[in-house]
Amino acid sequence: MSEKVVVVGGGLAGLSAAARLAHNGYNVTVLEKSPKLGGRAITIPLKGYNFNFGAHAIYARDKSILRKFESEIDLQVDWKDFSPEKAFYDMGSYTTRMPATLDGLYKTKILDSQNKFRFAYEIFKTMSAIERGEEGVPIGEYLQKEPEPVRDILLTVASSNFFTNEPEKIPSPLFFRYYRRLFSTQRAVAYIGGGWQSIVESFQQIIEKNGGNIVTKEKVTGVEMDQSHVTAIFGKEEKYEADQFIFCIPPKELLQIFAETSYEKIFERYTSFSPTQVVVYDIGLSERIESPYTYIYQKAQRVFITDISHYDTTCVPAGGQLLQAIAYLNDEEIANKKQDEKVETIEAVYDKHFPGWRDRLGAKRVSKRATVQEIKCKDEQMLMPTKMYSLPNTYFAGDWCQGEGQLSELSFTSAYDVTSRILKGSID
Ligand SMILES: Cc1cc2nc3c(=O)[nH]c(=O)nc-3n(C[C@H](O)[C@H](O)[C@H](O)COP(=O)(O)OP(=O)(O)OC[C@H]3O[C@@H](n4cnc5c(N)ncnc54)[C@H](O)[C@@H]3O)c2cc1C
Repeated sequence: MSEKVVVVGGGLAGLSAAARLAHNGYNVTVLEKSPKLGGRAITIPLKGYNFNFGAHAIYARDKSILRKFESEIDLQVDWKDFSPEKAFYDMGSYTTRMPATLDGLYKTKILDSQNKFRFAYEIFKTMSAIERGEEGVPIGEYLQKEPEPVRDILLTVASSNFFTNEPEKIPSPLFFRYYRRLFSTQRAVAYIGGGWQSIVESFQQIIEKNGGNIVTKEKVTGVEMDQSHVTAIFGKEEKYEADQFIFCIPPKELLQIFAETSYEKIFERYTSFSPTQVVVYDIGLSERIESPYTYIYQKAQRVFITDISHYDTTCVPAGGQLLQAIAYLNDEEIANKKQDEKVETIEAVYDKHFPGWRDRLGAKRVSKRATVQEIKCKDEQMLMPTKMYSLPNTYFAGDWCQGEGQLSELSFTSAYDVTSRILKGSID
């Protein structure tokens, strides 16, 4: 009999973990509380447009963990590479090339030639691990030694990769680890044709093709334990027993499920950390508005717009266009309910760069508090481990867990890590 694994949560972490195990002969059951799979990576069809709940940009695609899923379990990914020559910064009085490549660095007006050299040197030091940061020192403070324009550009770049308007709070060792990987890539950003939906469907097919079982509308509410093992979990009416359990659900859900066990206190700690949240404003246009940009970052307001349909033609009706704008939020702005102001700012940025959009509006979707990452990497906030010493048959994965990169890369890498442990355990 093959080993039985129950995976709780059908987001990117849960589906990728389940697909890898099913492909390797495990008897896998996925339990998802929503009617639809995908979690925060769902695609919402509206009036002929497919709005992805979040962007589907993958950073450093040649080093991305999705490449491993492609080669190992035959995940289907239709990569669409970002056009760096169409990525611009709006500095208020002028727009200029984003220094995403050497060519972009050469052409950008943000830095003068002396600082371009300094910036290139900083990239070299990061890639060769001469710069590693310092535990306990945030990157804003660590970069004080740099000339102001170089420090500013490094923080601006970090803003967009970490989806934050407080990039100075990123721990400096994490910053350098992240950019060591990103600067050494040939493909800094890529999109996925068909959006997240295509990845979700591909994982689902791998699970089902290998005899895995997916149960939707099944909210897990509790856990049964003997001294140190989880023996079963409880759905609405069913009890699910297994040899191993992978929880791919956020800490606030874990807290409820493990309530009144000795693990309650552990999960409570992770629920106290704040998430990375943003305002998302997607517009579907009946007719394209031609523009020199497929990505424009309004530096002063920290708002960016991506022409998603330039990369993913499946998300619009013929001749249409889908633009996604994202404005970052920090804790203070959320506490002071600044979301409506962000919506107005985004509309003004659309007016500036895509004039006429209001007349061509076919559909729109606004989300005033979308969670990009469950635990924000800043200050003393910590990501959750994927495994605990005292729970041998239980694992955790998701973008709140320790892994490589940020955002969905954390979901995929933590899922890959736990499935490697389970596979290794079977071999041993
Ligand atoms: C606006 C926005 C933009 C983004 N842009 C990018 C981007 O460009 N690049 C990138 O890499 N990432 C991006 N992300 C982040 C990415 O979407 C997430 O990191 C990823 O989808 C998280 O997947 P997950 O499986 O870790 O968590 P989730 O998606 O949160 O999945 C958890 C799942 O568990 C289910 N669940 C919860 N509780 C229970 C329970 N008790 N029982 C059963 N099921 C339960 C939930 O319904 C959900 O399906 C973006 C996110 C947003 C919101």
